[in-house]
Amino acid sequence: MIRSSDVLIVGAGPVGLTLGAELLRRGVAVRLVEKADRPHPHAKAIIMWPRALEALARIGAAEEVVARGHVIRAQNYSSGGRRLARTRFDGLTGTRHPYALSLPQEQTEAVLRERFLALGGEIEFGARFGGLRQDGGGVQVEFSGMDGAERWESRCRWLVGCDGAHSAVRRALGVPFTGASYPQQFLLADGPWETPLGHDEAHYYMTPSGVVVIVGLPAGQYRVFVSVAPDAPVDDPVRTVQEAASERVPVPVHLLGSPRTGVFRVHRRAAERFREGRVLLAGDAAHIHSPAGGQGLNTGIEDASSLAWRLAGVVHEARPESVLDEWERERRHVALSVVRDTDRQTRLWTMRGWRCRVRDAALHVAQATGVLDRTVVPRQAQLTLAYPGPRRRIGRLAVGGRLPDVPLPQGGWLHDLLRAAPDVCLVLFARPGSPGPDLAAGRWRTVPGVDVVQVESEAVRAALGLRGEVSAVVRPDGVVAEVDEIGGRRVTAWLERYLSPVPAARGGE
Ligand SMILES: Cc1cc2nc3c(=O)[nH]c(=O)nc-3n(C[C@H](O)[C@H](O)[C@H](O)COP(=O)(O)OP(=O)(O)OC[C@H]3O[C@@H](n4cnc5c(N)ncnc54)[C@H](O)[C@@H]3O)c2cc1C
Repeated sequence: MIRSSDVLIVGAGPVGLTLGAELLRRGVAVRLVEKADRPHPHAKAIIMWPRALEALARIGAAEEVVARGHVIRAQNYSSGGRRLARTRFDGLTGTRHPYALSLPQEQTEAVLRERFLALGGEIEFGARFGGLRQDGGGVQVEFSGMDGAERWESRCRWLVGCDGAHSAVRRALGVPFTGASYPQQFLLADGPWETPLGHDEAHYYMTPSGVVVIVGLPAGQYRVFVSVAPDAPVDDPVRTVQEAASERVPVPVHLLGSPRTGVFRVHRRAAERFREGRVLLAGDAAHIHSPAGGQGLNTGIEDASSLAWRLAGVVHEARPESVLDEWERERRHVALSVVRDTDRQTRLWTMRGWRCRVRDAALHVAQATGVLDRTVVPRQAQLTLAYPGPRRRIGRLAVGGRLPDVPLPQGGWLHDLLRAAPDVCLVLFARPGSPGPDLAAGRWRTVPGVDVVQVESEAVRAALGLRGEVSAVVRPDGVVAEVDEIGGRRVTAWLERYLSPVPAARGGE
């Protein structure tokens, strides 16, 4: 079988599905191949943070995910049975989702599959990526069927490996996956647990024999997640999880029925490159981390969201290929930050001896001084992760940072105004009746690919900390690309650069 496509995505996990849906929405011919013969039922991620929900909103999947999910409002840290810290998520500002959403990954994937299919996509199950050869115009890809007997080749202009931690695409490129593995084993049991612990909260119990994390799931269930020693027998995972919970948690935690279980090792690694010519790596194929703080799925969905508009621009020959290097620079920076943050948290979980006393004192101080609420939680929610570059900001609008989402006086939210944007959006935050915006936006209103949005609300400007009239260029992934006073040169210069013609030789095939 030989079929060609603009973009071939390997792996129909959450990252491949998000990328596929975003590309279809942008008119790119996509093929999505998956080695399994059906969707995976494994118990993996549960926590979704606001920024990933915003990425899902852009492809029309957030509403259903939120409807199916269960809202988690706080997290509690205890050491030796004593509670040290508690942070509430409702203090998160600049988002309509001031919470963590708990939803088993296979349900998130089911919603994404529905969206991908509704946008005209097709998932080719039972197609295992085996190898690739690149040339100037595209990529020749080898596949095999489920039993390995059937083999075929296919061609695409661009290939994205969203094929998870053991990525065959990454191996075919020979890109090193640098990092290390944690010695402990981790087990989880999702199911009907009986406990007085708040169902809309996450509970971390750190003890010398390991950690227990308990988080509410939809339909009244809980996830109980434990670490055990590297060499501990885990042939009966249900018993191991129950015993660890009973021993380490100071209140009753009893399993009432049969749970879904998982036993796994945890790693911290990042690919040394996310792009090699016409092949890119996203999601777990590019970076893996400990599940501490629920970051992997979220980071992967944002990789996809921030890649899709650029790759679509390159395919349509409207953007130079260098935007893919910019994507790699930005997302590797985020991936390395997430690996560092989750590593720190995993080490906190597994400390012993005098280090536990230092950790407990530090957590206590972080709680008392508000550092957990002000700094740690917004970062965990990925709201404050910013890309490298100039640290220019006006009020809460920072170049390389996410555009905060704030309520509009007429109802709805600021991000709703961007959702329909085909490409970049020039947002003008003006005083009611001011002539400034017309002068500043006049030339852009008719330019294809630039959407101009005018927000004349004192409340919105106050919520964004803007004193004067300000214009901002917002990229399709919700990131502020440039900010200036209305009529300022910087915004105009950014748009002129962005819209400048692409040299023919670099525009694609
Ligand atoms: C126990 C656990 C708890 C977690 N909790 C959280 C959490 O709460 N929040 C969070 O954000 N993250 C969490 N994560 C991480 C999250 O599960 C991953 O980051 C996420 O699955 C990555 O998605 P992906 O699409 O990149 O890869 P995957 O989900 O691994 O999907 C890759 C797909 O590629 C397919 N594939 C592989 N090889 C090939 C091939 N050769 N050819 C064709 N197809 C192929 C696979 O079959 C699979 O369908 C958790 C992980 C674990 C294990």
